[in-house]
Amino acid sequence: MEKIYNYINGELVEPISGKFLSNYSPAEGKIYSVIPDSDQHDVEKAVVAAKAAFIQWSTMAVEKRSAILTRIADLIDRDLDKLALAESIDNGKPVKLAKVVDIPRASANMRFFASGAIHFASEAHVTGTDAINYTVRNPIGIAGCISPWNLPLYLFTWKIAPALASGCTVVAKPSELTPMTAFLFSRLCIEAGLPKGVLNIVHGLGPKAGQAIIEHPEIPAISFTGGTVTGKKIAATTAPMFKKLSLELGGKNPNIIFADCDFEQAVTTSIQSSFSNQGEICLCGSRIFVEQSIYKKFVDEFVKRTKALITGDPLSDVTNTGALVSEAHMNKVLAYIDLARQEGGTIETGGNRVTISGRCAQGYFVEPTVITGLNCACRTNQEEIFGPVVSITPFAKEEEVIGYANSTPYGLSATIWTENLKRAHRVAAEVKSGIVWVNCWLVRDLRTPFGGMKQSGVGREGGWEALRFFTEAKNVCIKL
Ligand code: NAD
Repeated sequence: MEKIYNYINGELVEPISGKFLSNYSPAEGKIYSVIPDSDQHDVEKAVVAAKAAFIQWSTMAVEKRSAILTRIADLIDRDLDKLALAESIDNGKPVKLAKVVDIPRASANMRFFASGAIHFASEAHVTGTDAINYTVRNPIGIAGCISPWNLPLYLFTWKIAPALASGCTVVAKPSELTPMTAFLFSRLCIEAGLPKGVLNIVHGLGPKAGQAIIEHPEIPAISFTGGTVTGKKIAATTAPMFKKLSLELGGKNPNIIFADCDFEQAVTTSIQSSFSNQGEICLCGSRIFVEQSIYKKFVDEFVKRTKALITGDPLSDVTNTGALVSEAHMNKVLAYIDLARQEGGTIETGGNRVTISGRCAQGYFVEPTVITGLNCACRTNQEEIFGPVVSITPFAKEEEVIGYANSTPYGLSATIWTENLKRAHRVAAEVKSGIVWVNCWLVRDLRTPFGGMKQSGVGREGGWEALRFFTEAKNVCIKL
C-alpha cells in the first residue's frame, strides 16, 4: 500500500507521532494508501524550516526563483499522465478530465506566476515638486495555504505558486481526502531543486494539522479555499491575530437563461456547468433559471441530455461523471435529493445512487439529477449541495430573475445567456457575484480577479491580486 509522506525541510518524512490515516479510492470504495495524521508538532517543524529558508528565498534574484518554478511546471507537464491517473484514483473524477483540466492547469499556475514574479514591479508616485514616493512590496513571510478536495492539484498550486513567486516560504496542507498529487508534487519540487524549507507540505486533518497552521503565530497570511463553515472558523481564529486572509468559499451559482439566448449553446454549456467533475466545482451552476417562454423546451432538452450522460468508472474514456469524493459526501448529496422531494420538488431524472458492476461495485456514484417545481427560498435552492444536482425554475421578468439570483447568502459566480448586449450588461451589473460569465462558463484568464462576494469569500486570487496578497506594501517618501 502506497505511503504518503510529509515534505518538510526538503525531505519526505513520516509524521512525528508515527500515525497515519486511511486514504480511499472513491470509485472503488476502498483504502488504497495512507497519509500522515500530522499535528501541531509537524506544523512547528515545518514553520521552523520555512523560517530558516525565508531569507535565502525572499532575497534570491527573481529570475532564479522564476526559473525554479518554471522547472516544476515542466516536470508537471512531463508527468501529465501519471498525475492525471493519480488525481482520478484519489478523487473519483474522470481521468480524461484530469488530463485536460486539472493537471494542465496546475502546470499553468506554476508557469503563470513564475513569469508574473518577473513583471511584478514597484511603483513610484511623484508628489508635485515636493516629494517622491516609492512603494516596495516585500514578501509577507511564511504563508499558510490550505486547499480542498475537488480540484486537488489545481487549487493547491493556485495558492502556492503566487506565494512562492512573491518570495514567501510556505506551509501548505492539501485536503486529507485527496492528498496524493500534492505528495507527487513534493517529489517534483525536490527534483526541480527547490531549496529546502521553501515549500513544506503537512498532510492530515483540518481540525488538527489545518488548525495548527492557521493558529501559528509565525504565519502572518492564510490563503484558504474550502467550505463556508470552515472559512468562518478560520476567520474567527485569525482575526484577533490580525492575519491577512484570503478566503475562497462555497457557492450556489445561478445560470440565467433568457428566451433570446443561443439555445443550443445555452443547453450544451449548462450541462457542463451542472455536471462537470460530478458538479463538484465551486463554479458549477446549481440553480438554473429559464425564461417562461422557453422553459418547457429547455427542461425537455436538458433532461434528455442529462439522461444520456454516462456515470461510471473514472478510468474509462466514455465516462462523463465519475465517483463522488467520499461515502460521507455521497450520503450528503443523496440526503439533499431526499430533502428536495420533501420540499415538493419533482425529480425529472436521476435521484439515486448508481451501482456499477466490476471494479467499481463499492464506489460512491450518484446519478446526474435534475429537479423542478421548487421555490427559490427552499433549502435545496439555498444551500450548497456540491454534487451532480441542479434545479430548474421558470421566471417571467428580468427584475424577478435578478432577485432569484441574489436570493442566497452566496455570491461566487453566475452565467447569463442572452443575445441582447444591453441586457447582458444590465444583468451582469445587478448580479451580486464576484465572477459573471456571459454566454459561456469557466472561460478563465489567470490575470483576472477570482473570488466571491457575501459568504462566498473574502479577497481575490489571480494575477496581481494574488501577488499583492502575499506581499506587504511599504511606502517610502523622500522630500525633494
Ligand atoms: P473544507 O472546508 O471541509 O476543507 C477545505 C480544507 O480545509 C481541507 O484541507 C481541510 O482539511 C481544511 N480544514 C478543515 N477544517 C479546518 C480548520 N479548522 N482549520 C484549518 N483547516 C481546516 O472544504 P472541502 O469539503 O474540502 O471543499 C469543498 C468546499 O470548498 C465547497 O464548499 C466548495 O464550494 C469550496 N470551494 C470553493 C472554491 C472557491 O474558489 N471559492 C473552490 C473550490 C472549492
